[in-house]
Amino acid sequence: MSLRNLSDEMLIADTKMWNEKEEHCTRQFLRHINEVNRRRLFCDDQTGSLFKYIRKNFNKSDSETSRRVLAAKTLRHVPNADKALAKKQVTLTNLAEVSGLVGNIKSSKRKNEILESIKGKTQIQTREMVDKITGKKRATRSKSHSHSDGSCRIHLTLVGEAAKDYLFVKEQLSNKGLYRPEEIVGHAIKTTAESIRKRIMGIGSRKSKVTSNSRYIPATIKKVVIARSGNKCENCGSKYNLQFDHITPYGTGGESAIGNVRQLCSNCNTRAAIVAFSQQKMDLFINQS
Ligand SMILES: [Zn+2]
Repeated sequence: MSLRNLSDEMLIADTKMWNEKEEHCTRQFLRHINEVNRRRLFCDDQTGSLFKYIRKNFNKSDSETSRRVLAAKTLRHVPNADKALAKKQVTLTNLAEVSGLVGNIKSSKRKNEILESIKGKTQIQTREMVDKITGKKRATRSKSHSHSDGSCRIHLTLVGEAAKDYLFVKEQLSNKGLYRPEEIVGHAIKTTAESIRKRIMGIGSRKSKVTSNSRYIPATIKKVVIARSGNKCENCGSKYNLQFDHITPYGTGGESAIGNVRQLCSNCNTRAAIVAFSQQKMDLFINQS
């Protein structure tokens, strides 16, 4: 039946009904993606993150996906949030805005207080409240472009402590006429990169000194594995939160040998452990944030 033939009353009533259905479906969708996240099922799809999984498999834009992933995170941390969403006291956007905040709070009471404080608030009001609590100022979005000659152009705005530190370093060094801004930033990036490489290789930690028949993986083996993987997750290709994993688990006799060690991102590593040891066992160890 064409909508043109509906009476005004019927059209309004139907529109309300479809909106109710849409809201119900969205809540169910959030519940389901939280369970997909708990099982790390997106790793079986080599997507590496819940965001990329939804982006790839469902017809949603970046912002729609982001809002749902972040709102779902708030639902995991604040059980009453689902009820508030059902009662239309909060919006998906409200919930998404506070996801980072509630993820870092342990007290259930405090989490519920935050939920109460965002009821009926707009996105801007919610964002202002989060900024007030965290004491953070939002930087304008940074942009970076890689060029074919290997250079990288970065446009960034520093705020708060980072801006103060930058100005302090600049003042100290420019007095001596030593460095230009790009050299100061380059030095900071180099120091950070060195520290990350050391952490990946286990250099400087006790772990690197133990022998290959222990759970810990020697730096020499890590080096070979990194060369093989290209320093990426060997399942999904992610470059973030990389970990070394025993293919045959250490607990079931797997050795720290080159052929038994691979690089996985933390999500794929968790998924591998769920498959090897069961969800029930891994729920005790998994960080569900
Ligand atoms: Zn991965």
